[in-house]
Parts: sequence; structure tokens; C-alpha cells
Amino acid sequence: MFKPLEGKTAIVTGATKGIGRGIAMRLGEAGLNVLVVSRTQADAQAVAGDIGLNASAFVADVTNADDCAGMAEAAVNRYGGIDILCANAGIFPSARLGEMTAADFDHVLRTNLTSTFLSVSAVLPAMKSRKSGRIVITSSITGPITGFAGWSHYGASKAGQLGFMRSAAMELAPWNITVNAVMPGNIRTEGLDGLGADYFAAMEASIPLKRLGDVSDIANAVLFFASAEAGYITGQTLIVDGGQVLPETLTAMG
Ligand code: NAP
Repeated sequence: MFKPLEGKTAIVTGATKGIGRGIAMRLGEAGLNVLVVSRTQADAQAVAGDIGLNASAFVADVTNADDCAGMAEAAVNRYGGIDILCANAGIFPSARLGEMTAADFDHVLRTNLTSTFLSVSAVLPAMKSRKSGRIVITSSITGPITGFAGWSHYGASKAGQLGFMRSAAMELAPWNITVNAVMPGNIRTEGLDGLGADYFAAMEASIPLKRLGDVSDIANAVLFFASAEAGYITGQTLIVDGGQVLPETLTAMG
């Protein structure tokens, strides 16, 4: 039986949809105070309302350092401190090399990778003052392990998050702050909605467990990294992908 996390405080970025909403709901169910962060006030308020009295909304663009500082300040003012940061906000627009502009590349790197640095930097004063903290980054299998045509910028950002994580874990260990990452495979979220039925059929066929993941599959892994029992794990990754990275070839699927 895991020790209860009731009364602890988590910030979840990108918490209004998909994986972030799943994480926020799961942490809320576990009794944590949850700061629900996105750029859209109405969406953030709706998710906070779905969680209950232990949640509240905060509007921040995680590409902006001042917004990230405001997010950390709000968590401290409302709940007295920050125990867990889920750096989850991210985007995945598709663009092929040759068509992708430097601005496209920078935008994805800024939203997915620089934002991770900015969010982590913002929560450090609160976490260091208590000599305790859990940071859980939402990376991906795409980039660190696999490739996908159209997502070279995205893959670079997701691999970059892991490079950031490993050095951050070493720097922050003296304050008992752990930094880990979940690496989702294909998870059914609003962000994938535009990709069409063929995409989903091809994905399901390539996953040994023969289904796309649910946001709760990722949220449970995040909850584990946030638990007291995971306190000796830092700088590590957990792939949650239904076995998607395992097959060497289609025939290997059996
Ligand atoms: P999603 O459904 O599109 O939701 C993205 C969330 O991020 C929304 O709440 C969005 O809200 C927020 N957001 C986007 N840009 C932001 C910004 N600049 N500042 C603050 N919030 C921002 O995405 P998802 O599929 O759940 O993906 C979430 C994370 O999981 C991403 O890091 C993604 O790379 C990763 N991931 C997803 C999958 C998958 O299969 N879905 C697989 C591997 C990894 P607003 O637009 O209102 O700000």
C-alpha cells in the first residue's frame, strides 16, 4: 500500500486536455491540491471544477518565464508550497524537412523544451526551501527512441527533455528533489484528433497490446514518480506504450 499523498500540492502544465487533464484528475483523486495550468482560463477552470475544491485554475503560457514564475507563486500563495511539478504542456505540429521553417522549429523547441527549463526553474525556490520536491516531465518515445516523418522538431524537443532531465537530476539531488520522465507511446488525446481513422488503425496494428493508451495509463505512472515510495528514483524514464517500441519488424509481432 502506497503512502497517501493527500494534502500535497502539484502543478500540472497543459492540464486542460489529454494527458495533462488525465494527470490532474488522477492527482486530484489522490487528494492532492492541483494547480491546473494552461493558456485558456475557461478550460482550466472547467478542469479545476471537475477535480473539486482541492483544485484551481491558473493561466500561463509556459514559454514565458514571467508566467512560469507567476504559476509557482500562485501555488505557494494558494496552497503553501509546491511538492510536485508535472511539466507536461506540449505541442506536436507536423512539418516535413524542406518545408519546415526555422520559426517552426524554434516554436516547437520553445514550447516543449525551453518550457520545461522555465517551469522547473520557477518551482525551484519553493522546492529547495523545503529540501523536497518531485518533478515529472512528459517526454515521448518519439525522439528519444523512435522517429516519425514530419516530427523531427518534435523528436528533438522530446529527446532534449531527457538530456535536460539527467543533468537537472544531478544538480537537484542535494535538495532531495527528484527529476524523472514518462515516455508515452500513442495516447488517445484531443491533440491526436485530427490525424484520422487510418492513423489510429495503423497505430493499433503496431502496438503489441493492440490499443492506443488511455490518459490514465500515463497518469498512473506520474502518480508513481510522485509517490513517497519512488523517492530513491531520479533521472530515470518510464516508457508507457503498450509495448510499441519492442517489435523489430512487423513479423516480430507474431
Ligand atoms: P493536447 O491534448 O494537445 O493538450 C495539450 C495541453 O497543453 C493543453 O492543455 C494546452 O492548453 C496546453 N498547452 C499547449 N501549449 C501551451 C503553452 N505554451 N503554455 C501552456 N499550456 C500549453 O496534448 P497531449 O496529447 O495531451 O500531450 C501532452 C504532452 O504529452 C505533450 O508534452 C506531448 O508531447 C506528450 N505526448 C503525447 C502523446 C500522445 O500520444 N498524445 C505521446 C507522447 C507524448 P492551451 O492550448 O489552452 O494552452
